[in-house]
Amino acid sequence: MPAHSPYGPAVTSVLVIEDDEVIGRHLHTGLRGNGYAANWSRTGANGLAEAAHRRHDAVLLDLGLPDIDGMDVARQLRADHPDLLIVILTARSDEIDVIAGLDAGADDYLVKPFSLSVLLARLRAHLRRRPADAHTTRRPIQVGDLTVDPAARRCLAAGREVALRPKEFELLAALAGQPGIAVSREELMAQVWDANWFGPTKTLDVTMAALRRRLEAAETNPEQPRLPHIATLRGHGYRLEPPPD
Ligand code: CA
Repeated sequence: MPAHSPYGPAVTSVLVIEDDEVIGRHLHTGLRGNGYAANWSRTGANGLAEAAHRRHDAVLLDLGLPDIDGMDVARQLRADHPDLLIVILTARSDEIDVIAGLDAGADDYLVKPFSLSVLLARLRAHLRRRPADAHTTRRPIQVGDLTVDPAARRCLAAGREVALRPKEFELLAALAGQPGIAVSREELMAQVWDANWFGPTKTLDVTMAALRRRLEAAETNPEQPRLPHIATLRGHGYRLEPPPD
């Protein structure tokens, strides 16, 4: 039975499995303060139960837990959740532990003490490479004569390549994933830019304007459009409008 996220698909959720009160609280509040949904488990058993109960994008896993060895938790998490990002947190800087952790299924590790900003940067880098719903969003999407291929990172208009900057492409892919559906500015900021989207959102307007220009330039017959266009929904966000039949 698949676990569901209570936060919706746009928010990145992180499970912290850490028995140290100070470190656990620091991570839990730090993640929440940076736009992530975060849960905190203090034991391995509780962490595994949390992971089974709700969908998480990433787990921060302490290796020295009071009940189950962190390596075994990592192994179990990897077996149950093949797509989960697992970052082990270890005070043991011995190379052998790091290797064993990666062999147990972890994607990355951080040696304590580490700074929150380094941790957040690592998370962002990993999650960019590994979209949460990779299986559904990485297939090519066709809207009218527009093809958006997230796996190949290509955009085609009636088979001709449309050159897009990285953020323009990601923005288009986010909208094309749900044509005809309103997508809020917050959702787009969280999906296309870092999860840390509390700052000004002018960058979204600038990128959106550039993306629209490129789509308009790629339209061969503006009288009978075959490409979708992007509608602005005042006070909410945007919607990719399929061309008329
Ligand atoms: Ca510990």
